Amino acid sequence: MGKVSEIIANVLKEKRKNLLEPEAKAICQEYNIPVTRFKVARKEKEAIAFAEEIGFPVVLKIVSPSVIHKSDVGGVIVNLKTASKVEEAYKTILANVKRYKPNAEIAGVLVQEMAPPSTEVIVGAIKDPQFGPSVMFGLGGVFVEVLKDVVFRIAPLTKQEAKSMIAEIKAYPLLKGYRNKPPSDTDAIADIIVNTSKLVTDHQEIKELDLNPVMVYEKGAKTVDARIILE
Ligand code: ADP
Ligand code: MG
Repeated sequence: MGKVSEIIANVLKEKRKNLLEPEAKAICQEYNIPVTRFKVARKEKEAIAFAEEIGFPVVLKIVSPSVIHKSDVGGVIVNLKTASKVEEAYKTILANVKRYKPNAEIAGVLVQEMAPPSTEVIVGAIKDPQFGPSVMFGLGGVFVEVLKDVVFRIAPLTKQEAKSMIAEIKAYPLLKGYRNKPPSDTDAIADIIVNTSKLVTDHQEIKELDLNPVMVYEKGAKTVDARIILE
């Protein structure tokens, strides 16, 4: 069995539908979707060791099947620059989650590479009852949530189709660069869209997928948060 099928089978065996972020990111890696380096810690000391291995600054996040929107429960702390900050953040995250969700089952704390702030985009996928797996693209934050500036295509997609999809959003000029804002690497985004479309085409057990956000740079892009929900 392939690695992706193995992860999915394991999640279903545990009677879950929502993949944990490290599970979703491990699946992304199998499809060459770039993600921030990560490791799951189960003790403060382990979190510090992982942070030193990954390199500061790091981000800590709760890993819990009971928590879907991690920042809503104080489960994400970014830009940790020292071992003592990591130790403190580890305790704070567990305390926050216990306060918001006293019965939350805790699988650990995710230590990950901090992606430098940049333009945020969203790549998503849903299984449309009529058209099957479809992919979505838009710019992060208000662009998707308020302005609904998004584009959908039926999967699978060619790279050319992915590129035309990117050019279709109203906010495209922001990606192309303007004044002193350099252009974003739309080629790297197109690769992520194509690889996402392959993933959801190969694995029809996936009902929803969200790479939100993906940081895009002048060169390259990196998925900072990944969510996958099974049927
Ligand atoms: P949520 O479950 O709340 O969506 P996220 O993992 O998306 O949690 O984290 C919330 C926000 O924190 C992100 O939208 C992003 O702005 C920031 N963030 C999370 N992880 C990283 C990271 N590795 N590098 C940089 N910023 C991050
Ligand atoms: Mg997110």
